[in-house]
Amino acid sequence: MPTWFDEGYPHIWLPYAQMKTTPPSLPVTSTRGTRIVLADSRELVDGMASWWTACHGYNHPHITAAITRQAELMPHVMFGGLAHEPALKLAKRLADILPGDLDHVFFSDSGSVAVEVALKMAMQYWLNKGVSTRRRFLSFKGAYHGDTTGAMAVSDPEEGMHALFKGILPEHHVIALPRDEASTAAFDSFLKMRAGEVAGIIIEPLVQGAGGMLFHTPEVLQHIRDAAHRYNLLLITDEIFTGFGRTGSMFACEAAGITPDIITLSKALTGGTLPLAATVARTHVFEAFLSGEDSSALMHGPTFMANALACAAANASLDIFELEPRLAQVAEISKQLTEELAPCRDLPGVKDVRVLGAIGVVEMKKIDDLNALKQRFVEKGVWLRPFGNIVYLTPAFTISEDDLETLTTAIYDVLRTHP
Ligand SMILES: *Cc1c(COP(=O)(O)O)cnc(C)c1O
Repeated sequence: MPTWFDEGYPHIWLPYAQMKTTPPSLPVTSTRGTRIVLADSRELVDGMASWWTACHGYNHPHITAAITRQAELMPHVMFGGLAHEPALKLAKRLADILPGDLDHVFFSDSGSVAVEVALKMAMQYWLNKGVSTRRRFLSFKGAYHGDTTGAMAVSDPEEGMHALFKGILPEHHVIALPRDEASTAAFDSFLKMRAGEVAGIIIEPLVQGAGGMLFHTPEVLQHIRDAAHRYNLLLITDEIFTGFGRTGSMFACEAAGITPDIITLSKALTGGTLPLAATVARTHVFEAFLSGEDSSALMHGPTFMANALACAAANASLDIFELEPRLAQVAEISKQLTEELAPCRDLPGVKDVRVLGAIGVVEMKKIDDLNALKQRFVEKGVWLRPFGNIVYLTPAFTISEDDLETLTTAIYDVLRTHP
């Protein structure tokens, strides 16, 4: 019997793909745990957790049950003028686990939109205070904050996927992270001169993900937090990748002991099941929107805001964080990644090997043929998606020691023989 896959994909436009030359996507029929099942019954060990979302592995029964129950009761109602328990409960729980007074939760449906909301919030914060000069954002080289145009404008314009649109997007200031003496001096003197035109600073704390899995220390974040304080700038931390345990603590900003003014969350929020995002503000930010005037309200409201199915899934995911030892598992994964990726350091063509939390990175000097490399990994029975000059692992926190070893061994073997 022919299947849907036999026809190819004449009607589908794939992500980040040159449709003329991209190899066909792998047909997937199901998932379970840390395995992806292909139409020909092969199983791949998953090293990506589906773009960093499936932190509990696939098909966790507690999330499946919550979604099923919610689907029978009420999949969705508009959030304008109507409220429901899954959203109220989730907002309270997020406020409880986030640091400081990050207590005011605005839901949306994707990470990029959560970033748009954060930027809009920061701009309007100043307008509501009668300050019209603070119109730009400061962001960092290597940053990735999403694919919508506002988020693109604060992402790295050279390295990122958005170099093409330079000159079309709003111009913000993208400078080097203050990570050594020279870049710290440049960061400090930039603020000394230009802080008055800056609404806020946006940063992915501890790890710049899609920009190249680049790590920085908690001290870098503390320096930025202090500077934001000194110059009265809003600090936005984009924890869409790092949130929910990925770097070893529930949120990366906890590791640096900082509280941003606004935080964005998505990716692992629903345990990899449904699209949902949140922009969470501190009380002083929220209060800047309170007045007798409708015009100082935050003018945003996605159609699927606080979708009940997604909120139920997110609540179930937070239950699991309470019931199962996720952060301890991340610590174990971190140890195993450190040990098992270390030998890659001695391979020709390898520039750096680094591990933070459940993120393992092998940085190559260059990768000539990404598609060929991806193909080699599939032949080894693993699912990885190297990009740029980076081969990396972001497995589910539930991955077994054996499955993780399969992933690290595949990386070593493939890179050893890959020209
Ligand atoms: C993935 C990601 C985004 C964008 O999220 P989408 O859901 O893909 O729109 C933004 N910021 C960071 C740090 C991300 O990793």
